[in-house]
Amino acid sequence: MLRLKEIRKEYEVGNTKVEALKGIDLSFRQNEFVSILGPSGCGKTTMLNIIGGLDKYTTGDLFINGRSTKEFKDSDWDVYRNKRIGFIFQSYNLIPHQTILGNVELALTIAGVSKTERTARAKKALDKVGLQGQYNKKPNQLSGGQSQRVAIARALVNDPEILLADEPTGALDTVTSVQIMDLIKEIAKDRLVIMVTHNPELANEYSTRIIKLLDGELQSDSNPFTEKNEIKETNKRNELLKKEINEPNKEKAKMSFFTSFKLSLQNLFTKKARTILTSIAGSIGIIGVSLVLALSFGLQTQIDNMQNDMLSGNPIEIRKTAMDINAMQNMMTPEEKIEVIKEAGYINVNSMVEALMKRADNAGGLMVNNTITKDYVEYLNNAPSNSVAAILLNYGLDLTNNLYTDVYKSNNDNSDQMSLSTLRMIYTDMLKKTQYSEYSSLIGSLSENFMQVPNNEEYIKEQYNMLHGNYSKNKDEIMIVVNSDNQLNDLLLAQLGYYSQEEFINLIYKAGKSPLYNPSLERSKLSYDELIGKEFTWYPNDVVFNDPTDALAPFTYNSYQNDNFKNGLKLKITGILEPKEDINFGSLTSGFYYTEELANYVIESNNNSKITSYLKNNNLDAFYGMKTEVEQGSGVYKDLGITATYSFEFEGETYQSVSYLGKTDMMSAMLGSMMGGSVKEIPMVSLNELGGSDVPNQISIYPTDFENKKDLITYLDKWNQDIDIKVFDKVLKKADRVDIIYTDTLSIVMTMMSSLIDVITIALIGFTALSLLVSCVMIAIITYVSVVERTKEIGVIRSLGGRKKDVSYLFNAETFIIGATSGLIGVGVTYILSLAINGVVKPLVGMSIAIFPIHYALIMLLVSILLTVLSGLIPSRSAAKKDPVVALRTE
Ligand code: ADP
Ligand code: MG
Repeated sequence: MLRLKEIRKEYEVGNTKVEALKGIDLSFRQNEFVSILGPSGCGKTTMLNIIGGLDKYTTGDLFINGRSTKEFKDSDWDVYRNKRIGFIFQSYNLIPHQTILGNVELALTIAGVSKTERTARAKKALDKVGLQGQYNKKPNQLSGGQSQRVAIARALVNDPEILLADEPTGALDTVTSVQIMDLIKEIAKDRLVIMVTHNPELANEYSTRIIKLLDGELQSDSNPFTEKNEIKETNKRNELLKKEINEPNKEKAKMSFFTSFKLSLQNLFTKKARTILTSIAGSIGIIGVSLVLALSFGLQTQIDNMQNDMLSGNPIEIRKTAMDINAMQNMMTPEEKIEVIKEAGYINVNSMVEALMKRADNAGGLMVNNTITKDYVEYLNNAPSNSVAAILLNYGLDLTNNLYTDVYKSNNDNSDQMSLSTLRMIYTDMLKKTQYSEYSSLIGSLSENFMQVPNNEEYIKEQYNMLHGNYSKNKDEIMIVVNSDNQLNDLLLAQLGYYSQEEFINLIYKAGKSPLYNPSLERSKLSYDELIGKEFTWYPNDVVFNDPTDALAPFTYNSYQNDNFKNGLKLKITGILEPKEDINFGSLTSGFYYTEELANYVIESNNNSKITSYLKNNNLDAFYGMKTEVEQGSGVYKDLGITATYSFEFEGETYQSVSYLGKTDMMSAMLGSMMGGSVKEIPMVSLNELGGSDVPNQISIYPTDFENKKDLITYLDKWNQDIDIKVFDKVLKKADRVDIIYTDTLSIVMTMMSSLIDVITIALIGFTALSLLVSCVMIAIITYVSVVERTKEIGVIRSLGGRKKDVSYLFNAETFIIGATSGLIGVGVTYILSLAINGVVKPLVGMSIAIFPIHYALIMLLVSILLTVLSGLIPSRSAAKKDPVVALRTE
């Protein structure tokens, strides 16, 4: 069965060698009860461990069933321990956090036996040692004798051929010792039992053979078994089992990862508090990183949403004057620094003049003038159709000089037919008569009363519902756009003549808390019929402006409609639009909208009118208000402002008034004075406003969506590149074109915001990653502590045939569980914190800024598991490498 040949064992202690076994030659029978006696330190345990495959001999050989173990690999030893050997120790070596049943099952668990079979066999083994019905007790609930019975059951459960017992009764009282010895004797009936003992009486009474050791050498053997006999017996046995002597054992002991997972889970359950604390600590880093990701993702999502939402309200624009972004970037790049040499006794002169001139040059280049040509408009019309939703060609028209409507002085008075410009002038003058004169510039402060609608009905209808009536299609059709609360503002309505003059002044009184305020004159609602019922008539310039009396005299303006008015175009209001619910930034602000058809009609009618021809002939782009001196022919100076004459009643008195026509554009006035021009030259009525230009002065291009916008930008950029471009079947060379600088405000803002978020995210992740690192180190330490704590268990598992792999699985499973728990806590807390953050922030800014998508959560969970397992890898490897003998000796 077993044969030791010249077995020597040396231990290295420091620099000296301790020889624990000094050449042992010994053979064992297949079935006998051997007791090994000898004083403490003579090498009994060492020999037993070598026989059991727990320890390796230094020289010599151990034959197991005739097979030499010289070439044994780790896996062979594992199988040998698991299948052939049962160990019993003096100190029982039960695993404290498992039940008795679990402890006994362990050997089978390691062998990969199925759960049901395992339980059945373990129970049978426990029954055999007299512990029936106590399966679920924990080791600390047992007496010494009972513990040793469990250990015996564990050793027997695999039905080993050899039982090794190292002082099994050393820690027991006499009565219990006898019981245990009876049990072992019973076991020895059909196998080889080798028992180390201190007690010669027990040895004499129970064993069939007594071997005495002294100082690592065989001293005596009461029933020797020769080498020849052992070989004979082994050959007979092998023949019976039909096994070759040298056939390596094919079966393998293996424990599944799932099993080690369960063992670890049980272990972690016994130290719940620590596991939870570790997991919480580990989760802090995960929470930090997750939260940063959630915020970054949330903000980015909101920006993307906002971008798509704002796209319709922020088209790409081509204006007469535009900011050149490239020039701006050039200006912001720092200038090359010239090396300056300091010389004792001198000061250096730096060239301020040059620097200033350079800066002025750069600043001048910042603003560029765009010259929009018909070719360019055609070029835009050919833009990829899937990228352009709508184009608005804005000719800079001002319809208010040419639109006439009924205006009432008071609610029970007759109406006057006057132009919208006239009404504006009346309100301005009227305000000047009140104590609120400083508010007179309120009038006309709305950018435009009548605006042009972008040329795509479908696009507009994607954003707006028809609240009433039909969509305008023709030149004489007008639409009203209200805001999301179905409102139009009073200032606009007043300037369009929807209020009587009395009602308008009442609005001023109310706002000014004047005692003259009359609540009964106030209207907070207008019916659709009232809105739609109002009539506006458009007249061409040649009707509205009176011919000059002589070649140089200015035109005069008809403030009121008179009998000579002809060729009018009656405008009908056909419908009312409201923004759809999910639209925050639509293409249209609230107000009155006319069609591109009307714009074209106005230009067609007015382009060659007398007043526009006059401006063109004199190379002027506008009539100016106030005193402007213009050289004409032989040096005659003239005031070119166009005056309007009108009258109004205010608080019982009638006033006659003369004003310059046109809106006072404060912005241009200020800019004019700053640019070194004279304040006197304020453009009042421009050629564009009069319909004198058939080339738009501003173009808005509405992209379909964000993706397609890129194509559009590429297309727009092409115009400025040095390539030929085909328009109208003609080829435009680079020299035939003037560069056009477009303004994409939305992109500039959004790109800045996105990159800002990116930078902040990276910085924050950097910081929070530090806490991840800290928790990794902590988990490594905790795993290491756990390894130290479970050293005994490692020894037991190894003695039962567990592989090194099984041991490392055990700790990897433990860190896996901790990592998963940390990850789950981290992700869970992130969700809760996100909710809390949104709860606080949403009422303030109207959107959720913390969004933690499920795939981020999964990734963070994986990161947590991965990092934790990685941190535990080194301690778990050290556990696997532990020498089982040393591990078992650890107390
Ligand atoms: P016994 O079991 O007979 O009391 P051991 O087999 O445990 O004796 O030890 C035999 C000798 O080998 C002793 O001198 C002991 O100190 C020494 N020894 C045992 N294990 C080791 C070890 N791991 N390292 C160094 N010396 C050891
Ligand atoms: Mg010993």
